[in-house]
Amino acid sequence: MPHLTTARFHTTVAALHQLPVDELPEVAFVGRSNAGKSSAINVLCNRRRLAFASRTPGRTQALNYFAVGAADRIDGFIVDTPGYGYAAAPLETKREWDALAGRYLGHRPQLSGVVLVADIRRQLTPLDAHLLSWITPETPVVVALTKSDKLPHAQRQAALRAVRAELDRLRPDIRNRVVLFSALSRSGSDELSGIVEAWLISDAVPGMALDEPAGEKKEPRQPYSPGAERP
Ligand code: GDP
Repeated sequence: MPHLTTARFHTTVAALHQLPVDELPEVAFVGRSNAGKSSAINVLCNRRRLAFASRTPGRTQALNYFAVGAADRIDGFIVDTPGYGYAAAPLETKREWDALAGRYLGHRPQLSGVVLVADIRRQLTPLDAHLLSWITPETPVVVALTKSDKLPHAQRQAALRAVRAELDRLRPDIRNRVVLFSALSRSGSDELSGIVEAWLISDAVPGMALDEPAGEKKEPRQPYSPGAERP
């Protein structure tokens, strides 16, 4: 059973051809810059600085892979995508995001779920709708409305209703997949980590033992091909 607290840095992917070729399940975290994505990953994994936000607009866009599993095996990966939509980001940076993270979200067969992190005070913005549009309808999504400690109860509930109404329009199948989350109080973290851990074992793909002899490694079930559409 993958336990998120075992997460450790695995690799950085700056171009699609560098994506790992194994078939282990992956759960991606996406969100607009400053939404609280890094803080959410760190709370779920119980680590202070596993993921960290880039403060530099235009910095190289990359996917960061964190391996989950006991020390001698990997059961799956958490994938941190670059924060989306710096107001100051040049158009080129946005294009880079679409070309790497966008295409990753739309074409990766190993992707078993996506956590969309959104600041509860902004609810879902057009940028979040754009993020959602990259994700195939078959990929399960949970929306983590973070910084929920910043709103009193009644406003939190109102935000929840507004987000559900917006999801009715964007992805009706996930209207009830919204978690009120706070990295500060850790509220919602058990629910969210339960969902992420279930996705990491959802395919019942056997984990990869790190000392597995090379000859016994499985071929990827469906090799990644950047041009291919998902079936
Ligand atoms: P990222 O750019 O999406 O990775 O955002 P960060 O995780 O770096 O968070 C952006 C800012 O929001 C930081 O100053 C965090 O300390 C703050 N923050 C993130 N999550 C929470 C939360 O749940 N509650 C509060 N009060 N602040 C948060």
